[in-house]
Amino acid sequence: MDLRGLIGRWPVIRQLRGEDGRGSAARSARTDALRPRTAEADTVARSVCPYCAVGCGQLVYAKDGRVTQIEGDPDSPISRGRLCPKGAASKQLVTHPGRQTTVLYRRPYGTEWESLDLATAMDMIADRVMATRRETWQETVDGKVVRRTLGLASLGGATLDNEENYLMKKLYTALGAIQVENQARI
Ligand code: SF4
Repeated sequence: MDLRGLIGRWPVIRQLRGEDGRGSAARSARTDALRPRTAEADTVARSVCPYCAVGCGQLVYAKDGRVTQIEGDPDSPISRGRLCPKGAASKQLVTHPGRQTTVLYRRPYGTEWESLDLATAMDMIADRVMATRRETWQETVDGKVVRRTLGLASLGGATLDNEENYLMKKLYTALGAIQVENQARI
Protein backbone atom coordinates (compact mmCIF):
# COMPACT_ATOMS: atom_id res chain seq x y z
CA MET A 1 0.00 0.00 0.00
CA ASP A 2 1.41 3.44 -0.93
CA LEU A 3 1.90 6.29 1.57
CA ARG A 4 -1.32 8.03 0.53
CA GLY A 5 -3.25 4.82 1.10
CA LEU A 6 -1.60 4.27 4.49
CA ILE A 7 -2.37 7.82 5.67
CA GLY A 8 -5.90 7.45 4.34
CA ARG A 9 -6.42 4.47 6.64
CA TRP A 10 -5.37 6.46 9.73
CA PRO A 11 -8.45 6.65 12.01
CA VAL A 12 -8.11 10.44 12.52
CA ILE A 13 -8.21 11.00 8.76
CA ARG A 14 -11.16 8.65 8.43
CA GLN A 15 -13.01 10.54 11.17
CA LEU A 16 -12.24 13.88 9.46
CA ARG A 17 -13.66 12.38 6.27
CA GLY A 18 -16.88 11.87 8.16
CA GLU A 19 -16.75 8.21 9.12
CA ASP A 20 -18.21 7.44 12.53
CA GLY A 21 -15.33 7.52 15.07
CA ARG A 22 -17.06 4.98 17.25
CA GLY A 23 -17.70 2.54 14.42
CA SER A 24 -16.38 2.26 10.90
CA ALA A 25 -13.40 4.65 11.41
CA ALA A 26 -12.15 2.56 14.31
CA ARG A 27 -12.35 -0.73 12.40
CA SER A 28 -9.42 -2.54 10.82
CA ALA A 29 -9.02 -5.76 8.86
CA ARG A 30 -8.00 -7.42 12.13
CA THR A 31 -11.08 -6.28 14.03
CA ASP A 32 -13.28 -7.31 11.08
CA ALA A 33 -11.78 -10.82 11.33
CA LEU A 34 -12.38 -11.15 15.07
CA ARG A 35 -15.00 -13.74 16.11
CA PRO A 36 -16.57 -14.18 19.55
CA ARG A 37 -15.11 -16.99 21.68
CA THR A 38 -18.58 -18.53 21.74
CA ALA A 39 -18.81 -18.91 17.93
CA GLU A 40 -17.02 -22.29 17.89
CA ALA A 41 -19.16 -23.90 20.63
CA ASP A 42 -21.16 -27.01 19.73
CA THR A 43 -23.35 -26.94 22.88
CA VAL A 44 -24.68 -24.24 25.21
CA ALA A 45 -26.07 -25.20 28.62
CA ARG A 46 -28.01 -23.02 31.05
CA SER A 47 -26.54 -22.97 34.55
CA VAL A 48 -26.35 -20.94 37.76
CA CYS A 49 -23.17 -19.28 39.01
CA PRO A 50 -21.94 -21.37 41.95
CA TYR A 51 -20.02 -18.63 43.73
CA CYS A 52 -22.55 -16.77 45.83
CA ALA A 53 -26.14 -16.64 46.95
CA VAL A 54 -27.27 -14.18 44.27
CA GLY A 55 -27.56 -17.08 41.82
CA CYS A 56 -26.87 -15.28 38.54
CA GLY A 57 -27.83 -17.16 35.37
CA GLN A 58 -25.02 -18.44 33.16
CA LEU A 59 -24.65 -19.79 29.65
CA VAL A 60 -21.94 -22.47 29.53
CA TYR A 61 -20.42 -22.91 26.06
CA ALA A 62 -18.59 -26.17 25.27
CA LYS A 63 -16.79 -27.72 22.33
CA ASP A 64 -15.84 -31.39 22.11
CA GLY A 65 -17.03 -31.90 25.69
CA ARG A 66 -14.84 -29.15 27.17
CA VAL A 67 -16.03 -25.79 28.56
CA THR A 68 -14.80 -22.99 26.30
CA GLN A 69 -16.60 -19.95 27.72
CA ILE A 70 -19.11 -18.94 30.41
CA GLU A 71 -21.23 -15.80 29.99
CA GLY A 72 -24.24 -14.20 31.63
CA ASP A 73 -27.67 -15.48 30.60
CA PRO A 74 -29.81 -12.61 29.24
CA ASP A 75 -32.97 -14.64 30.01
CA SER A 76 -32.20 -14.91 33.74
CA PRO A 77 -34.75 -12.86 35.74
CA ILE A 78 -32.12 -12.62 38.51
CA SER A 79 -29.19 -11.12 36.62
CA ARG A 80 -30.47 -10.35 33.08
CA GLY A 81 -27.19 -11.24 31.37
CA ARG A 82 -24.81 -9.79 33.94
CA LEU A 83 -22.04 -11.50 35.90
CA CYS A 84 -19.69 -9.94 38.44
CA PRO A 85 -15.93 -10.44 37.88
CA LYS A 86 -15.99 -13.59 40.01
CA GLY A 87 -18.84 -15.16 38.05
CA ALA A 88 -17.32 -14.02 34.74
CA ALA A 89 -14.13 -15.91 35.65
CA SER A 90 -15.93 -19.09 36.74
CA LYS A 91 -14.70 -20.96 33.64
CA GLN A 92 -11.46 -21.36 35.61
CA LEU A 93 -13.38 -23.42 38.13
CA VAL A 94 -13.41 -26.27 35.61
CA THR A 95 -10.42 -25.49 33.37
CA HIS A 96 -7.66 -23.88 35.46
CA PRO A 97 -4.59 -26.15 35.64
CA GLY A 98 -3.92 -25.09 39.24
CA ARG A 99 -7.31 -26.20 40.63
CA GLN A 100 -7.31 -28.81 43.41
CA THR A 101 -8.46 -32.25 42.23
CA THR A 102 -7.61 -34.45 45.23
CA VAL A 103 -8.64 -34.32 48.89
CA LEU A 104 -5.97 -32.70 51.07
CA TYR A 105 -5.61 -33.90 54.66
CA ARG A 106 -3.40 -32.61 57.46
CA ARG A 107 -3.16 -35.01 60.36
CA PRO A 108 -3.40 -33.75 63.94
CA TYR A 109 -0.01 -32.18 64.75
CA GLY A 110 0.99 -32.70 61.10
CA THR A 111 2.92 -29.99 59.27
CA GLU A 112 2.34 -31.19 55.71
CA TRP A 113 -0.75 -31.77 53.58
CA GLU A 114 -1.34 -35.34 52.35
CA SER A 115 -3.32 -36.21 49.23
CA LEU A 116 -6.11 -38.72 49.83
CA ASP A 117 -8.36 -40.45 47.34
CA LEU A 118 -12.03 -39.57 47.78
CA ALA A 119 -13.12 -43.05 49.02
CA THR A 120 -10.51 -43.01 51.81
CA ALA A 121 -11.49 -39.49 52.87
CA MET A 122 -15.21 -40.37 52.90
CA ASP A 123 -14.53 -43.44 55.08
CA MET A 124 -12.53 -41.30 57.53
CA ILE A 125 -15.33 -38.73 57.75
CA ALA A 126 -18.00 -41.42 58.23
CA ASP A 127 -15.96 -43.07 61.03
CA ARG A 128 -15.56 -39.75 62.83
CA VAL A 129 -19.20 -38.77 62.47
CA MET A 130 -20.37 -42.07 63.93
CA ALA A 131 -17.82 -41.96 66.78
CA THR A 132 -18.77 -38.37 67.68
CA ARG A 133 -22.46 -39.19 67.58
CA ARG A 134 -21.94 -42.20 69.85
CA GLU A 135 -19.83 -40.23 72.36
CA THR A 136 -22.10 -37.14 72.52
CA TRP A 137 -25.56 -38.69 72.23
CA GLN A 138 -28.17 -37.28 74.67
CA GLU A 139 -31.23 -39.44 75.21
CA THR A 140 -32.76 -37.11 77.81
CA VAL A 141 -32.06 -33.63 79.23
CA ASP A 142 -33.59 -32.63 82.61
CA GLY A 143 -35.83 -35.68 82.40
CA LYS A 144 -37.17 -34.78 78.95
CA VAL A 145 -36.57 -37.04 75.96
CA VAL A 146 -34.47 -35.15 73.37
CA ARG A 147 -32.58 -37.85 71.44
CA ARG A 148 -30.01 -35.48 69.99
CA THR A 149 -26.32 -34.71 69.73
CA LEU A 150 -24.68 -31.32 70.16
CA GLY A 151 -21.39 -32.80 68.98
CA LEU A 152 -22.27 -32.47 65.30
CA ALA A 153 -23.15 -29.32 63.37
CA SER A 154 -23.43 -28.37 59.71
CA LEU A 155 -22.49 -24.99 58.22
CA GLY A 156 -23.23 -25.05 54.49
CA GLY A 157 -21.93 -22.63 51.90
CA ALA A 158 -23.41 -20.42 49.22
CA THR A 159 -22.70 -22.91 46.46
CA LEU A 160 -25.22 -25.43 47.75
CA ASP A 161 -28.54 -25.53 45.91
CA ASN A 162 -32.02 -26.30 47.21
CA GLU A 163 -31.78 -30.01 46.52
CA GLU A 164 -28.42 -30.39 48.25
CA ASN A 165 -29.66 -28.48 51.29
CA TYR A 166 -32.77 -30.63 51.43
CA LEU A 167 -30.64 -33.78 51.52
CA MET A 168 -28.25 -32.30 54.09
CA LYS A 169 -31.11 -31.33 56.41
CA LYS A 170 -32.52 -34.86 56.10
CA LEU A 171 -29.12 -36.40 56.85
CA TYR A 172 -28.29 -34.24 59.87
CA THR A 173 -31.77 -34.54 61.33
CA ALA A 174 -31.54 -38.33 60.99
CA LEU A 175 -28.19 -38.20 62.79
CA GLY A 176 -29.76 -36.21 65.65
CA ALA A 177 -27.92 -32.95 64.96
CA ILE A 178 -29.94 -29.79 65.61
CA GLN A 179 -27.38 -27.16 64.52
CA VAL A 180 -27.88 -27.00 60.74
CA GLU A 181 -27.22 -23.72 58.92
CA ASN A 182 -26.39 -22.56 55.42
CA GLN A 183 -26.09 -19.37 53.39
CA ALA A 184 -27.52 -20.72 50.16
CA ARG A 185 -30.52 -19.24 48.38
CA ILE A 186 -29.90 -20.79 44.96
S1 SF4 B 1 -21.91 -13.69 39.15
FE1 SF4 B 1 -21.14 -12.78 41.05
S2 SF4 B 1 -22.99 -11.92 42.04
FE2 SF4 B 1 -23.68 -13.42 40.49
S3 SF4 B 1 -23.90 -15.37 41.63
FE3 SF4 B 1 -21.83 -15.33 40.70
S4 SF4 B 1 -20.52 -14.51 42.34
FE4 SF4 B 1 -22.64 -14.00 42.88
